[in-house]
Amino acid sequence: MNIELHQEQSTGILIFNRQDSSANIFDKAVLTELDERLDEIARDKSIQNLIITSSKPTIFIAGADIKSLFSAPPSEMNDLISLGQSVFNKLALLRITTVAAIHGACVGGGYELALACDYRVASDASCTRIGLPETQLGILPAWGGSTRLPALIGLSKALPLILGGKILKAKAALRKGMIDGVCPHENLLDYAHSFTVYPKREEPIHMLEHNPFSVAYIRKKATHDLLDKTRGHYPALLAATKVACDGVRESLLDSLNNEREAIIKLTSGPEAKQLINLFFLTERSKKLKPNKAEARATNKTAVIGSGVMGSGIAYWLSTRKKDVLLKDVNEEALAKGMGTIQNLYGGSVKRHILSKTEATAGLDRITATTKPVSLKDREIIIEAATENLELKKKIFATLDEQSSASTILATNTSALPIHELSKVISHPERLVGIHFFNPVPRMKLVEVVQTDSTSDETLATAVKFVQSIGKLPVVVKDSPGFLVNRILLPYLVRAGEMFTDGAEPTLIDQAMLDFGMPMGPLRLLDEVGLDVSLHVAKTLAAAFPDRMAVPYILQEMIDKGMLGKKSGKGFYVYGKGHSEPNRDAIALRPNNRTPRDVQYQLTLLMSKEAAMCLDEGIASCAEDIDFAMVMGTGYAPFRGGPLRHADTCNLLDRSFY
Ligand code: NAD
Repeated sequence: MNIELHQEQSTGILIFNRQDSSANIFDKAVLTELDERLDEIARDKSIQNLIITSSKPTIFIAGADIKSLFSAPPSEMNDLISLGQSVFNKLALLRITTVAAIHGACVGGGYELALACDYRVASDASCTRIGLPETQLGILPAWGGSTRLPALIGLSKALPLILGGKILKAKAALRKGMIDGVCPHENLLDYAHSFTVYPKREEPIHMLEHNPFSVAYIRKKATHDLLDKTRGHYPALLAATKVACDGVRESLLDSLNNEREAIIKLTSGPEAKQLINLFFLTERSKKLKPNKAEARATNKTAVIGSGVMGSGIAYWLSTRKKDVLLKDVNEEALAKGMGTIQNLYGGSVKRHILSKTEATAGLDRITATTKPVSLKDREIIIEAATENLELKKKIFATLDEQSSASTILATNTSALPIHELSKVISHPERLVGIHFFNPVPRMKLVEVVQTDSTSDETLATAVKFVQSIGKLPVVVKDSPGFLVNRILLPYLVRAGEMFTDGAEPTLIDQAMLDFGMPMGPLRLLDEVGLDVSLHVAKTLAAAFPDRMAVPYILQEMIDKGMLGKKSGKGFYVYGKGHSEPNRDAIALRPNNRTPRDVQYQLTLLMSKEAAMCLDEGIASCAEDIDFAMVMGTGYAPFRGGPLRHADTCNLLDRSFY
């Protein structure tokens, strides 16, 4: 049994408690069981109202069983969608007042169940997260979510939530009208009881949507914005927009029909398949155990260097309740780093990601110093000082003396050979690369770089540490550029060469935006900084001289002070809120490249390099490589990654583009 029915006086309490699992999810068996329970409740006249809750510590209902849903043939899928819709309708049509008492993850089908209740209340615990993330998987909410959320809060508020696939904390969900109240976890059931005295909820009237012109306008604008942003590569977003907008004027049953037809069509398309595969790769990374060794605790941390990366890392660690000692050699740099951290906390409070109290507590977890201090109590130290091998060797020699024999020593280097650092420390088995991406708060991927001497325990601890701060680890070998930069750099370098050949920067960048990249390669070079990019390009060109060369234009531009966005000029000139191609940097030669040619040449390089990384065992499998490229660089997610992309099309066939 997965759902228990209790009764307290006239209140029925349905408790979801999936057997032998830490999560509640919906599959055919659970939906059928819920159907039976609802029949029992409807028959039992002594039950005058109903509360639905869960007994799992951090999960209300985590949605549908995605694995079984997507491995099902279309006819079974159709049956499962219909079953969910009819069971949730049965719940909505009960003659008694129904209240969802939510604690923990209430997402996808879990929130669609809550939407079928009259009222929804939630605990204010940090594990309580509410939303409809289906569009992130290339599908749409099809158990009533695309219809009932607009009906509850209005189309104009619901559409961004559905299209963004946003998962919100309880208070944010309350502000959006997605739930009716928030309380401490310990009061949740009492609070839910207090809602059972209300009559069944009438569907609210949204004046704006009474006007067909408003609905047409909302739909037109949403579709236009989506096409502009996604270039039509994500059909689920367009389908969800259509279903939600049509639903405002159609009957519930017609709209549910639209939901069902749309999801069946989407799941048979390539985009949903790639996005669902990425979802499983993300879950795999969250649970990754690289070996059998026991991971050690990593609560007391130190970050060496308070520049761009060090300050980002210190901020992130402190938000995840790690105690951080932030060290720099330079008072000014340290003050700048702490200023960055304060701004990051300020921004998080402004965007309601953290409360003021949480931000203050986070800042208090950071101790900043330029003085030599003992690091004996630190369980993990992450070096993020200037990219210079000799400097890093000195730093690690000092860390070796200052830390204890069990401290994990990690470097955030982008491209330096990590094994070189093992030569200056007495316990090379404690050394590992923990390579964050910039900007740290936004980028989820972290490469955990294993040298030949890294012990199993160090690797297991580093992976667990990355997971404990909510980032996604991928284990890679200590080799020039590791994995992501190794594949990305040929792409960036070739884009630089195309620019040198005379192609307009906008043509190159636009072509890759059309391919599905989040940013064009030249703009990315400007963001990273041409000096930093040149440094990494040189390291890789030295390691792979037969196939990588550094485009001379980079050095020329650097010599003229064009370092990218940070100097106001790179491939583009940056003004306040706008940018345009940098005419000073443009070589005036005939431009004979087409966007397809650009896409073909640039992505072929990445796919080839990814195949080489696979052959060389830089990552242990093709999935890790694709996952790292999507998470680390934003490689067009709907294409699945450079290896899947190469599998899906014949890369040598230019007509594909
Ligand atoms: P940065 O120049 O912004 O900051 C480096 C900081 O290190 C400076 O504040 C400097 O004062 C400090 N420092 C120098 N010597 C020190 C010492 N002996 N002890 C303590 N602090 C010292 O550099 P960054 O961009 O933050 O890069 C730091 C590291 O992270 C580099 O290894 C870089 O390759 C790597 N990385 C950078 C990026 C990026 O996009 N910037 C991305 C991933 C990894």
